[in-house]
Amino acid sequence: MKVPLSKPDIGEREIELVVSVLKSGQLSLGPRLAEFEQKFAEYVDTRFAVAISSGTSALHLCVKALGIGPGDEVLTTSFSFVASANCVLYEGARPVFVDIDPATLNIDPAKINAIIARDYAWDGKHLTNRRSGRVLKAILPVHVFGLPCDMEPILQTADAFNLSVIEDACEALGAIYHGQLAGTFGDAGVFGFYPNKQMTTAEGGMIVTNDARIASVCRSLRNQGRDASAGWLRHVELGYNCRLSELHSALGLAQLEKLEALLASRDRVAQWYARGLTGVPNLDLPTVCPGRKRSWFVYVVRLSGPSAPRDREILIEDLAARGIACQTYFPAIHQQPYFRKLLSVSAASLPHSECASETCLALPFFPSMTEEQVEEVCIAVRGSLAQRGTSREPFLTGSRLPQRAGSTREREQSIAFR
Ligand SMILES: *Cc1c(COP(=O)(O)O)cnc(C)c1O
Repeated sequence: MKVPLSKPDIGEREIELVVSVLKSGQLSLGPRLAEFEQKFAEYVDTRFAVAISSGTSALHLCVKALGIGPGDEVLTTSFSFVASANCVLYEGARPVFVDIDPATLNIDPAKINAIIARDYAWDGKHLTNRRSGRVLKAILPVHVFGLPCDMEPILQTADAFNLSVIEDACEALGAIYHGQLAGTFGDAGVFGFYPNKQMTTAEGGMIVTNDARIASVCRSLRNQGRDASAGWLRHVELGYNCRLSELHSALGLAQLEKLEALLASRDRVAQWYARGLTGVPNLDLPTVCPGRKRSWFVYVVRLSGPSAPRDREILIEDLAARGIACQTYFPAIHQQPYFRKLLSVSAASLPHSECASETCLALPFFPSMTEEQVEEVCIAVRGSLAQRGTSREPFLTGSRLPQRAGSTREREQSIAFR
């Protein structure tokens, strides 16, 4: 691909710090890990930061640390990366999907309240699902595409019903909700450092919390269930190995040093996109919300109009033909093959999540992207959409399903196997 979907920004400083770890001889559980955690905690302004080998494992440890297990449920969103639901399944609990607000693409707080009122009984201590008999333990909001969720009503609901809050802020490092960084509102927040994120450690993640118990439980769980005071071969509980190595931590430190510049570059690229794509018919650009500053993670546009899913397929082909990468983002989690077997979610209950998953498209987006590259993508997008309804349409191939024909599943597969 001439224009890739994403690209990490690795400079001399990253190389220098990683090489210095290699030369030091201490490759794990050393000074870089401690320094990375301390500087990260300072940046987000929480008491504790616990570095983990991936964002997914970080979410898992939070679920476990909060005592969520078999017989429990967690309210979350289906319009996300699978990790935010998988972390609940790992512990034998069940994610219950709440539909999104179609404007923000984040979990809809009003629908959280509606589902609690409809499906759960409150005994003054616990919310019990009237049908499943399981207990609701937590809300797990995801700050999708770097836009903070509407945290105030979510925290109010959590407060009213003794629910924990785990924020999946893996896409939202640097995002601000009413003056406070996303990821720092709940009992715990999680960041991810995969190479396409705002900053990277190659693989890695971070748990942030102000709760000393959560921090120490997560530290123990990531390190084979050891406790801090006792020896190397004393294991006080069933733990895991999800430590972040010194090499990864050094990479994280170098990225953290230049995080503000990385975020500013992303802002600039997003502004070029907005300029190049504003006013294109049937193309919705990322929402701006008062009181919320998005941290640009990806640039996701949304096709609208009656033939949006098919228009998206045409757009994907047109971009590919010009060497421009793109990604249908996200496919709804409840429609993933393994989830269909696991849970029966009636199609009607998540209409906005399903619609978003059929119409959203991530365009190339990375901090070193040039104005010319953005312009090239914008020209391709405008060109593709301008052709709709004209002589271009009849050259549709047989793989393109007519509008609204077939089940959602068939339409998805036609996208997946193209
Ligand atoms: C990236 C991401 C994660 C974590 O992914 P890892 O690859 O395990 O670091 C979790 N949730 C969301 C929404 C993400 O985008």
